[in-house]
Amino acid sequence: MKKRSFVLATALASLALFSVDANAEGLKNIPEAPKGGRFKTPTDLVWPAEVGQGDVCLWKDDKFAALAITIDDNCKKDHEWWLKICDELGIKVTWFVITDKVGKINIGFNGTWEDWQKLANAGHSIQSHTTNHKSNKKDDPNKMTEEEIVAQYRDSLAIINENVTNNFACTIAYPNGVAHPEIAARYAIGARGVYGVPSPANNINYMCTNKGAASQAFIDAILYGKSEYEPKWMQNRPNLTRGLNIVLYHLVHWGHSPEQIEQSVANVEAEVRNIAKYKDVIWIARFDDLMKYGQERDTAKLVVDPISKAGEISFKLTCDMDLTLFDYPLTIKLCLGDKTNSITAMQGEKNIPARIVEHDGKAYAIVDALPNGIPVKVSYK
Ligand SMILES: [Zn+2]
Repeated sequence: MKKRSFVLATALASLALFSVDANAEGLKNIPEAPKGGRFKTPTDLVWPAEVGQGDVCLWKDDKFAALAITIDDNCKKDHEWWLKICDELGIKVTWFVITDKVGKINIGFNGTWEDWQKLANAGHSIQSHTTNHKSNKKDDPNKMTEEEIVAQYRDSLAIINENVTNNFACTIAYPNGVAHPEIAARYAIGARGVYGVPSPANNINYMCTNKGAASQAFIDAILYGKSEYEPKWMQNRPNLTRGLNIVLYHLVHWGHSPEQIEQSVANVEAEVRNIAKYKDVIWIARFDDLMKYGQERDTAKLVVDPISKAGEISFKLTCDMDLTLFDYPLTIKLCLGDKTNSITAMQGEKNIPARIVEHDGKAYAIVDALPNGIPVKVSYK
């Protein structure tokens, strides 16, 4: 099969991140949303009224809102702590790694590739914080050239993918928040910026997302669009209802004295435990999975076939994204009508997850399907 590489010929070309089939079509990322957003965000969960009507859920598993915990700058000292608390709470986090330092400089802080593999094996995501964490400061006479920035983004992703399995590095966190989204878009499907407000669900800037925070006001914002807690400027944000809150941590075991370190750990632990309490309503996800789900959803087309047989609904789900990169299932909700006891779903020849929920006396199917156009058949009775 003929392969096409997006990466320019360089010494690192063999580490090409995006190498797709010549026939593969689709986008690696989508442009910024038009003013006002890409769609009207539903203020509550959506319940299609007619039998056979379907809806692409705003977030996975029909969760109300979404949140990612991200950790920058390697912080090897915290690895065990995060492994333990995430295991206990049943959540996954995303690490943005400065790749040049791994296994080379201050290993006690930056870790080795074995350390990063261990995190990936536990289901956490290993993503790029560039090769060297350099950023162009305003008025800096020695600004990085475009070539240098290309190498920072492209090579860091490639190096992670060379060294860590059970993981796919395809997103970036910009060092010091200095973003070059037009360059990142050549190599990544998403990138985290540092503008400090959650993103409205209908207006996520995938190549330079907003960042939120762990405190209660930011959680309230994505659940209710308002809060009683500080900061004041987060207290009335109706457009953030059902939005995406990306939390950023650096070193947790931080401080100049044992007491200070203890306090820092206790603060983060309280925040993370509080976030995990909302697991049933907030999709706590890895950053790369969020970037996949969001862009698939934003370009998805769901066509439900007219019902021709009792107890069976078929649909086709497509999106505009490059399916060699975008392989995360979307959650589809279908109105089944009368109470239903059992359900199965197949996409092509494969069984896919399906369950029944009830709302207002009607039964609904919740199905996880890939947006690849392969027909889905839902059978229920
Ligand atoms: Zn950093």
